[in-house]
Amino acid sequence: MIRTAISLIYLITASLQAEPLKVASLHPLIADLARQVGGDQIEVVEIMKPGGDIHHFEPSPKDLASMRGARLVLASGKELESFLPKLRDSLGAGIQILEVGEKIPSIPATCNHDDNEKTEEHHHHGADPHWWHSAENMKRAARILADAFSAAAPANEATYTSGAKAASKRFSELKSWAQKEISVIPRDDRKLVTAHAAFGYFCKEYGFEPISVLGIGRGDDSSSKHIAQTIQVIRDNKIKAVFPEDQANPKVLTEIVRGTSVKTGQTLIADGTAKEAHTFETMFAHNVRAIVEALK
Ligand SMILES: [Zn+2]
Repeated sequence: MIRTAISLIYLITASLQAEPLKVASLHPLIADLARQVGGDQIEVVEIMKPGGDIHHFEPSPKDLASMRGARLVLASGKELESFLPKLRDSLGAGIQILEVGEKIPSIPATCNHDDNEKTEEHHHHGADPHWWHSAENMKRAARILADAFSAAAPANEATYTSGAKAASKRFSELKSWAQKEISVIPRDDRKLVTAHAAFGYFCKEYGFEPISVLGIGRGDDSSSKHIAQTIQVIRDNKIKAVFPEDQANPKVLTEIVRGTSVKTGQTLIADGTAKEAHTFETMFAHNVRAIVEALK
């Protein structure tokens, strides 16, 4: 009788400890990172799925329903998800929204445009929200997730800590690989011309100068004056290539290519939502290869 009671208590405790933590994710890269950190002690509900547009996403009532039972909602932060205050109200007190990027050091959004032009997309001077283009930031994010998961499910702390460590090791190796690849690009050619201003963190970590044709969003609203300025910048800097993006290949880039002798590089993945590459590893490796190929 006592033995049965003890084994019953043991069973209940064991099943409590083995309970995976349920989280919801608002970014495919973060969903993947959560799985790397959480292993089999995490259940990730992907609200914002690969192929989506992080700059214009808003959760639907159906998305809200699928967040039910989650302890945490993982957001990119840095004001990327303007709907968070509204979401917080709808979800109530039981679910915590974790802005993963909040504690990651910001760099200012880069817009090389004329400040007299008060167009909507270009009037954006906060932090660059695309923090996931840096291996060091991804390592920070892994630790942030491990801490948050451990606070929500202390019994699984060992899994989360070792998951974050293993992910960090992979990201460090990837960074070393990228540095080696990029070393073949002549120093003067390390200028990255892209459609929207998404690669600031990448440029900072790997020694490139970012030049974006559009602002931080993805509008195709560049003025002819801005295009002329960009063409001048490309000529002055003897830029070899410009890069379209998986979700932003604006007409203005075509016009710039036509107006200069610059070549068009392979499509870069800016927001980490490409269907064929929506993990940090696949996105980053793809981008590094495309950049090296065009600028070496
Ligand atoms: Zn973006």
